[in-house]
Amino acid sequence: MTADAPRRALPPWLKVGLATGPNVARLKTASRSRGLSTVCEEARCPNLAECWGGGTATFMVMGDTCTRGCRFCSVATAARPSLPDPQEPSKLALTLKEMAVEYAVLTTVCRDDLPDQGASHLAACLREVKAVCPDMKLEMLLQDFRGDKSLLELVLGAGADVIAHNVEVVERLTSSVRDAKAGYRQSLEILAHAKKYSPQTPTKTSLMLGLGETEAELIQTFKDIRSVGTEILTLGQYLKPTGSRHHLPVERFVPPEEFDRLGELARSLGFLYVASGPFVRSSYRAAELFLKGRLEKPVAA
Ligand code: SF4
Repeated sequence: MTADAPRRALPPWLKVGLATGPNVARLKTASRSRGLSTVCEEARCPNLAECWGGGTATFMVMGDTCTRGCRFCSVATAARPSLPDPQEPSKLALTLKEMAVEYAVLTTVCRDDLPDQGASHLAACLREVKAVCPDMKLEMLLQDFRGDKSLLELVLGAGADVIAHNVEVVERLTSSVRDAKAGYRQSLEILAHAKKYSPQTPTKTSLMLGLGETEAELIQTFKDIRSVGTEILTLGQYLKPTGSRHHLPVERFVPPEEFDRLGELARSLGFLYVASGPFVRSSYRAAELFLKGRLEKPVAA
């Protein structure tokens, strides 16, 4: 890691205080006491209090260290992180039961070092949570398993109510923003296969803005994502996680009114639900509430 690069000053619409409050403190203790990682804390998400206070939470499973090094991500990187905790499925289920959240998101680091890239561990986490918290809606934010469909299906068959996989950025920026093992077409293929494997299970993806993409590229990306049957889209502002040069600088802070207009554009392409705004993240409460409502009262096809 080379010397730090100065981070750009935040525009007024991005200046918010960090989450506090008794409920947040209690839930932090619950997850930390079992050695679990929440993305909410790892990414210092500005929405934490709203989400946790409102009954949703996001857990990162398979540890807090990834075998990849995407240049927008604050997760630690190593070639051989420690093996996943075999007790994690039960610890996770107990913590989520204690938190009594209505909607939980499980996300994961990439484990390119493991023979099955962690697929069986992820499936075990999903099954255990579903067994202990049958009424809880569960979203699985997947990695790409380097495009291996048999590993993907191990997780797709484990009972998640929503399948998510992030395309992250427009095609032109993929190789400079995401790890070399990730790919734009590969990610579209993951979303396409998830929809083919279980057509009634909603699929979801997320894009970061402010890394140099053009509007024309965004519109083409919306169309590509819709073309593989994805129903849910979230659009949020990229924020540089640390001062290190490993993390890409913010090219532009996209104003809220532009997020609104892009959201409208995406909705006009047929997405069931679009959350678009500076603070929107891939696991975003509003989207989750929509999905929860949809899962409870599915609209006849
Ligand atoms: S794959 Fe990339 S985005 Fe995902 S946890 Fe690893 S470094 Fe972060």
